[in-house]
Amino acid sequence: MVRVTTTDRRTALRAGAGLAAAGALAAGCAPHGAGAHPPPAGTAAPPTGDRTPAPTPRLFPQVAAQITHGPRDRPRVALTCHGQGDPALADALLTVAEAHGARLTVLAVGSWLDEHPGLARRILDGGHDLGNHTQRHLDVNAMSETEAEREITECAQRLRRLTGSIGTWFRPSRAARASPRVERLARAAGYPHVLSYDVDSLDFTAPGAPAVARKVLGEIRNGSVVSLHLGYADTVAALPAVLEELHRRGLRAVTTTELLS
Ligand SMILES: [Zn+2]
Repeated sequence: MVRVTTTDRRTALRAGAGLAAAGALAAGCAPHGAGAHPPPAGTAAPPTGDRTPAPTPRLFPQVAAQITHGPRDRPRVALTCHGQGDPALADALLTVAEAHGARLTVLAVGSWLDEHPGLARRILDGGHDLGNHTQRHLDVNAMSETEAEREITECAQRLRRLTGSIGTWFRPSRAARASPRVERLARAAGYPHVLSYDVDSLDFTAPGAPAVARKVLGEIRNGSVVSLHLGYADTVAALPAVLEELHRRGLRAVTTTELLS
């Protein structure tokens, strides 16, 4: 249980100013575990059977191509996760969210899906949003046209093979915002919007669960899109306190698709 007092929140806000600079340096996304992993031999996709088709990308005409937040006049927020890392921690975070009636948006790295193909359906079956976070989680904005296109389309192919859909959102790897080239390539691959965020939890810096909770709760408000990461114990430990406080404030944690609908 993480107790967040008003004093703590003020402290977190002061700390957040410094942390924001650190986040900018880290480009807002976890640098860890970003190496390319070839698919294990014999890894088979789980059968999709006759399950409900996965949601597909939607164009929200009133919304910018790059989304940093949803409507500020409705008490809803989206908790979005870099999808990589220890599958047990990933499952734990999804389970905590579900126990609180919350839904997440997971932007999956393609190489992670190659290693853990069952997680794609696990995410969808929990009622969460699933999207594309490039194939290898390298600095996609710094790549050539051909390389960047491959990073986007290879992850989209994994998602389609595993779920029947390329997923609802694209988020660039190693960057909070997509370059104009990457935004254009994502649109060509079928994603009308790039999903950024306006609250960075900095959970990937492993600052401890109380610090993660204070950072998020100090900045979150109507319409916020929060950047979190699967695969970090601090995030799992912080989520109950975050969700309990959101509930107290009357803020619902919904999928990004619901946030914008
Ligand atoms: Zn990431």
